[in-house]
Amino acid sequence: MENLTFLYEGKAKKIYKTEDPKVYLVEYKDDATAFNGLKKGTIDDKGVVNNRVSAKMFSILEKKGIETHLVKLIDDRKMLVKAVEIVLVEVIVRNIATGSLSKRLGIEDGKLLNPTVLEFCYKSDALGDPVMNEYHILAMELATQAEIDFIKETTFKVNEILKAEFAKLNLNLIDFKLEFGRYDGRIILADEISPDTCRLWEIGTNEKMDKDRFRKDLGNVKAAYQEVLKRVETL
Ligand code: 5GP
Repeated sequence: MENLTFLYEGKAKKIYKTEDPKVYLVEYKDDATAFNGLKKGTIDDKGVVNNRVSAKMFSILEKKGIETHLVKLIDDRKMLVKAVEIVLVEVIVRNIATGSLSKRLGIEDGKLLNPTVLEFCYKSDALGDPVMNEYHILAMELATQAEIDFIKETTFKVNEILKAEFAKLNLNLIDFKLEFGRYDGRIILADEISPDTCRLWEIGTNEKMDKDRFRKDLGNVKAAYQEVLKRVETL
């Protein structure tokens, strides 16, 4: 790629402008953080796994009618994406209780949630991504009611598709985080879908195959990421 201009570096990715003002280049890094940046490290080749897993899941979603920011996979660590303006709301879907939900509300770890729980968090490193609701989103003018409604509807569709795809790989989609962006007046799915942003438990054993291996020092972090990529590439 030529004529790239560095735009932004986040915790896991670098973003560059391209010659086309409507297209950015995303480069996935091996840097790993947890607990709002308090724990730092690297996971060897995590960038490759997250780039390739995200590209695969985005292309599956596109085929099922969900618009995403994916334009094209470039190489192991890079993809071209539509230049969205990120909505500063993280959308979390929980099929099974664990993590911060179990901690916050005392729900038994591993409990099947009925209905599936959708949460919003304010995307703010300074504040530690606090949980928020629709009233906060509207009052802070982070999104309109129509945008929130579209985001919720799309998120539940994404959940059904991803659950089914990961189940084919013997992985149980426990929970995950999505981010959306504005593009040409529409809301589209952005950011990434990877073992960094999804909890994936092996069906049968509940072995963790995601970033919790890093967060909780469970060992075999790289191997788990590589295994997820190997399975996803069979889809
Ligand atoms: P929890 O709130 O239990 O920590 O996370 C719920 C789900 O959302 C997990 O799958 C987790 O990976 C994802 N998630 C929530 N916030 C973030 C975030 O800031 N970064 C990443 N990578 N994942 C997040």
